[in-house]
Order: sequence, then structure tokens, then C-alpha cells
Amino acid sequence: MSRSVIELTNSPEDIARAAEILKNGGLSAFPTETVYGLGADAFNTQALARVFEVKGRPRFDPLIIHIASLETLEKTTSLDGLEPRNKESLEKLISSFWPGPLTFVLPKHPSLPGLATAGLSTAAIRFTSNPIARELITLSTGAVAAPSANLFGKLSPTRAEHVIETLGNKIDCVIDGGPCKIGVESTVLELVPVPRILRPGGISREQLEAVIGPVAEATGSRDEPVHSPGMLPSHYAPKTPLFFHNPEEMDSLPYRRKEGYLFFSGKNRDIWYNRANDKQITGNILVLSETGNTTEAASNLYLYLHELDKSGLTCIHTEMLPETGLGTAVNDRLRRAATSLFARK
Ligand code: AMP
Ligand code: MG
Repeated sequence: MSRSVIELTNSPEDIARAAEILKNGGLSAFPTETVYGLGADAFNTQALARVFEVKGRPRFDPLIIHIASLETLEKTTSLDGLEPRNKESLEKLISSFWPGPLTFVLPKHPSLPGLATAGLSTAAIRFTSNPIARELITLSTGAVAAPSANLFGKLSPTRAEHVIETLGNKIDCVIDGGPCKIGVESTVLELVPVPRILRPGGISREQLEAVIGPVAEATGSRDEPVHSPGMLPSHYAPKTPLFFHNPEEMDSLPYRRKEGYLFFSGKNRDIWYNRANDKQITGNILVLSETGNTTEAASNLYLYLHELDKSGLTCIHTEMLPETGLGTAVNDRLRRAATSLFARK
């Protein structure tokens, strides 16, 4: 892969340079607390069109608009028509979780180009906590449309190197801000008509419910109308075939040298290892969190999938996490990354 991309550091001068590129209609990749984003000025239709082209992303899949101040929320959304109870929920959630990995789907402002929202009357808005991203957004036009900086449907990047490997000859610059802390995408939440998670992510359902009470979850079933157009059944996938197992299935797998194994916890790996009782076991076995912590597991997910994907394996076996905390988001990504519909439970 050629590297025509300008590789920038997180120095103030370099962030200002990336902001200039955005203001001139270019594409700047940058770190957030979730994954690396591919940024374009949200008000520049040509730049937006290039994002879709570079990623190979279908035009029906709306982008998330990143902001770095509450004033920009007013410039990108039209909140006047919101019912008082929805407004109240929005205010409570903003004060609890912004800046942070929570994206709201809200009525869009007329000035926001339809390309950013895939023609929908709503827009997805996020206020990231990453200081590099916030500085970049503030120095540009204040609203940056940014999907993950990867090819459509593939593994998300959590390191600058991941971005360079796949988009290095297609975008203008990338700011290296080190590894992403959270490691799975933001939670996408709609508030109208009722609070509902469209995509599980960096803020868990339990956290949301502690602030506003019951929150529904999109089931992703085929019978359900498409409320979040980008949530396709197949997504976030490595090149290597991936299988998603419940812990009992994972434990009963035989060890094969050319296959990869991604366990949730050190305990689960040890149980499997003792049962397999095969002292030939050498590599390709990774553990998302030795102590079985779902937050730590989420932060390692894409890094480890990238590693296994590069190891020349015939397939990768992954294990379902408990459906609590960020476990729900990790399971969602693994289900969509899984090769076989059969394995998608
Ligand atoms: P990404 O930018 O790839 O992390 O994903 C953004 C996702 O947010 C899209 O794929 C949709 O699933 C969801 N989304 C964005 N805008 C809207 C919207 N207006 N209504 C519903 N879902 C949205
Ligand atoms: Mg993405």
C-alpha cells in the first residue's frame, strides 16, 4: 500500500494543519475515544461524497456528525419540535455522557446537506471526549462528518497504523494519537418516539437507564423495519473467516495450529487449554481480558482481530461475552463479523 497520506503527530501545529485540510475540503483521519474517524467538513458536499467513495460506503448509510461545542448542536439539529419529555431526556443524557461515546439521532437542521444523513430527516450527532479530535473540530468548521476510517464493512481502526494500512493512498492526512481508549464505536440512541438503542456501543444500556429509565434496544431482526440504515447484518469483518461461539461451544473446540482463538477471559482459555490437554498448543490464542472485564475486552477487540487477521490463519474462533456493560457492544460486532449465518445467534 502506498503511503501518500501525510502522517501527522498530535502537536498543536499538526492538528492545525489537519484542520486546514478539512476546511479546504480534504479528508483528515483522527483519533477518537472509540475508533479512528475519517473526517470531512459536514457542510461540504464534495468532501462528503469523497468519504463515501474512499470507504466504498453505500450512500444510504448516514454519517455521524462530530461536534465540539453545544452551540454547534443548534447549527446541526432542529430541536424546537421535540416533545418536552424527549428534550428533558436529551438534556440529562448530555450532562451525564457528553463529551463521550454517545451519538444522538435528532431532527436535522435544514442547512446540513442531505448527503450527510443519507436523505433522512434526522442526523446522528456526537461530541467526542478525545482532546485531539475536539481541537481539530474546533479549528475546522465546527462540524465534522466522520465514519470509521476503514473500508466499508471491514474491521475498524484503533491505531493510526490500521488507517494507513488500508486508506494510506486515498486520504489526505492522519493524526497519530496513539491507541483508542474505548475501542468499540459509539452507542447510537434515538429519543423519538421513545429512547431506543440503534447500535450498542461505548455507553452501555445500564448506564443510560440509570439516567433516564427504561431504554429499548433494536433487535436487528429481519422483520423489524430498518431504523438505522447502516446497521447491516454483515459488518466489522476481518478477511479471515470468523466464527462466533457461545462459551460452551468454544470450550469444546479442538486445537488446530492454523486456526485462531479469541477468548473473552483468561479463565475460559485455561479451562479450554486444560481440557484440550495438548502441550503442542503454541500461538494464535488471544484473550480479550485476562480478568474477564468487558470494558478492557472492548478496548482490545479490534487490535486483536487485526493481529489474528494478519497471521495467515484459515479461520478465527471468537467467544461470546456476558451481555452486560460493553459486552453487548462487543457481541454485536462479533455477530456481524461472523462468516456463517448459522453461527450468528
Ligand atoms: P459509523 O459512522 O460507521 O460509525 O456508523 C454510523 C451509524 O449510525 C450508521 O451506520 C447508522 O446505523 C447510524 N445512523 C447515523 N445516522 C442515523 C440516522 N439519522 N438515523 C438512524 N441511524 C443513524
Ligand atoms: Mg464504521
